[in-house]
Amino acid sequence: MLGRGLPHGAMVTQPECLFCRIVAGDEPAEYLVERDDIVVFKDKFPRAPVHYLVVPTSHLDSAHDLDADHRAHAVVELAIRDLKHGTGLNHCPSGSFNANAAWLLATTLAHNLTRWTQVLGAPQATSLINAKTFRRRLLTIPGRLTRSARRWTLHLPSRWPWQHVFEDTLGRLRALPAPM
Ligand SMILES: [Zn+2]
Repeated sequence: MLGRGLPHGAMVTQPECLFCRIVAGDEPAEYLVERDDIVVFKDKFPRAPVHYLVVPTSHLDSAHDLDADHRAHAVVELAIRDLKHGTGLNHCPSGSFNANAAWLLATTLAHNLTRWTQVLGAPQATSLINAKTFRRRLLTIPGRLTRSARRWTLHLPSRWPWQHVFEDTLGRLRALPAPM
C-alpha cells in the first residue's frame, strides 16, 4: 500500500524526519498495521528475512522520549498500586476464597468510585491523584450538616486549603445529568 490517508492534524510531526513523512504518507511504505498511535511497515532495506519497523505516529526525538511517552500513558501501574495501598487490596482478610472475593469486590468498588469522582468531578487534575491523597483533601474532612427553613447547609472548616477545589468538584458532580 502506498501513501496513507491518516487524519494527521493532532499528531506531532517534523517534516525533516523520515518516519514522520512515512506516517504522513509522504514516503511510500508497505504497511502491515495502521493505528492511531503506531504504524508497522516493512523496512525498505531489510537486514533479515522479516524486518518490520514499529513507529509511533507522533514524532519522538529519542528512545528516552519514547519511554517517557509510554510511562505517561501507562496509568495502569499506578492504578494497581492505588488499588493495593489506597483502597486496601493488600489486606485480604483471610484464607477463605469467598471472603477474599468479597474483599476484592469491595476494594474495586471503592477504587472505581474514587476514580470516577476524580474523572468527572476534578478533570483538571490530569494525572492520577492517588486515593489516599484524594480522600485526605476532599473526602475526610470535618463538617457539620444543619437544616433550617427546609434547606440543608454543610458547614466546613474555614481556612481550609482545598475549599475551592472541593466546591468546584462538587459543582461539577451536581451538574451531571441524573442516571437513566
Ligand atoms: Zn518523526
